[in-house]
Amino acid sequence: MKKQTTDFRPASKSVGFVLLAGSFLLFLILSGCGQETEECQFSFETMGTVASLRLMLPTDLPAEKAIGIVEDSFAEVNTALSTWSPDSEISRLSRAAADSAVNLSPLLRTCLTRSLKLHEQSGGAFDPTAERLMRLWGFYRRKGVLPSTTALDSALADLGKWRLEGNPALVVKEKPGTHFDLGGIAKGLAVDLAVARLRKAGVKDGLLDLGGNLYCLGGAPDREDWRVGIRNPRNRDELFATVTISEASVATSGSYERFVTIDGHRYGHIMNPATGRPAEGLLSASVIAHEGILADGLSTTLFVLGPDAAWDFLDAYYPDVEVVLVVPGINEGMDTVRATPGLRGRLKLLPGFEDQYQIIFPD
Ligand code: ADP
Ligand code: MG
Repeated sequence: MKKQTTDFRPASKSVGFVLLAGSFLLFLILSGCGQETEECQFSFETMGTVASLRLMLPTDLPAEKAIGIVEDSFAEVNTALSTWSPDSEISRLSRAAADSAVNLSPLLRTCLTRSLKLHEQSGGAFDPTAERLMRLWGFYRRKGVLPSTTALDSALADLGKWRLEGNPALVVKEKPGTHFDLGGIAKGLAVDLAVARLRKAGVKDGLLDLGGNLYCLGGAPDREDWRVGIRNPRNRDELFATVTISEASVATSGSYERFVTIDGHRYGHIMNPATGRPAEGLLSASVIAHEGILADGLSTTLFVLGPDAAWDFLDAYYPDVEVVLVVPGINEGMDTVRATPGLRGRLKLLPGFEDQYQIIFPD
């Protein structure tokens, strides 16, 4: 699965930036240079997407080593958690019988523990067992199919039928047909793993982008933070706004990112477990949080909850995270951007988008 494709410029003191085109949900905008570090940029395919790095390396950390740290971190998570590989730990768990206690690797345990917490807090909107629904709508075949009501009902009956038991936790499935898909949270976990290891190796400034799950370490050259762009959900080739971030992760969920077309209608890849259908209340949800796993898990959760329930959920459980929701208007051009008040002065529309979007900071 892992394949290196591009642009390794070892230990150059490059100024300027190029984050490569491709499937980035967000990418950085500024650059410059300043300290006793060497900059390295690198991009490669992993976890079914593209990873892109821009790291300011201390002079005693070779670029090959830093890149290896990141590649290995992402590969470890992929090996354990990829639904696409029948041999992964998560695929084996999906095939496990009901009522047997299954041992977990630390990575899978973290992922399931955090998923369960989000699942409970969100009243089931975040569900790491949406695999059957994803399959029914055709996401594993990459060809859309309208599922029958009977098939949907059968998949819905098996949703969420599992629990964690003991300490350290084992997982017990209550129904054999409960199958896991951790696509809503695993990339954030992978980013956290890489960031922790990079910090340990002495990296203080850098930006990691794993398919739209970013982590901003320190700041860009000559800045104390990073300025990253948020994709226009109406046209994923453009950015419509920027936000400044430091020592935090940002993740965006949007149905434009992955969808299937059935009878001319586009269905997005984030399922609403309450209906069994793709969630449709938002155009995109971006979350800035201190951990990648939280930003990733929450962006998926908010996307499912939709504009109103998302706000109540945040008030109740996550008053400290920053959020940007793009809420569809009746027509294109009438969409609104709702952002948490902490983003005042940090979230800015890019030139040309003032007419298309209006930012509201609800109290
Ligand atoms: P992306 O994968 O584009 O970064 P997200 O982080 O929002 O986007 O994750 C979407 C993925 O999460 C889907 O492709 C699927 O694997 C999984 N998923 C779908 N519906 C749900 C849900 N209700 N709760 C948790 N995960 C989900
Ligand atoms: Mg997510």
